[in-house]
Amino acid sequence: MKNLSKLIARLAKFYGKPKPPLTTDPFELILFESVAYLVTDERRAEAFELLRKTVGTKPHQILAATNNALLRVAELGGMQPEKRAARLREIALIAMNEFGGDLSEALQLPLTKAKKALQKFPSIGEPSAEKFLLFTRSYPVLGLDSNGLRVLLRLGFGEEKKNYSASYRSVQEAIKDQLTDDYDWLIDAHLLLRHHGKELCKTNRPLCEKCPVNKVCAYNITEMIHHRGHGGIDKTD
Ligand code: SF4
Repeated sequence: MKNLSKLIARLAKFYGKPKPPLTTDPFELILFESVAYLVTDERRAEAFELLRKTVGTKPHQILAATNNALLRVAELGGMQPEKRAARLREIALIAMNEFGGDLSEALQLPLTKAKKALQKFPSIGEPSAEKFLLFTRSYPVLGLDSNGLRVLLRLGFGEEKKNYSASYRSVQEAIKDQLTDDYDWLIDAHLLLRHHGKELCKTNRPLCEKCPVNKVCAYNITEMIHHRGHGGIDKTD
């Protein structure tokens, strides 16, 4: 399938309208990304809410927090809590030192510079920076997480390359002429692609038989031909 708006419409019909992101504040988005590791979305949201409630989500509040308070949050967020608690403090320090505690001006920089500014934070690459610019409605870009990227690659947008960022750029190149500047649509597209990647289009053994776009999916069609070639699922054709 090469028509992005049709694809998003089908996913929306199948899954329903996605819940909006928990925050649209740029610093909170960075904290949300960093507060947990390899846990469910629900657990990440819990850890983030605990941070909001017990510490606060302003850089100066995080810097003033006790180690124990940050550790309690980080423990809820999964493995290696000490590292993550220190990471939260590091993020707050960068926000204070590089941005005077307020990221709003950075979002107004020209696109490339705005992305670079956000990438000053640890573990924030171009895809996350683009997602933040989208969720804060600063630039109409379709930042994709690894789920969204996998889904679009399998459906035939762009090509899998030697490394993640080259694959990411290839997909972005393939979709760029189909993007609109409708933030609601772009945010829904991000969330639906991510959700589809987590629910059905999983990394290993995607559940193609249940997928609402399986008839137009390059990956699925190739798999079916492959199976037929091996005397698999459909010998009657
Ligand atoms: S048919 Fe399979 S590979 Fe293609 S989008 Fe659906 S789940 Fe993913």
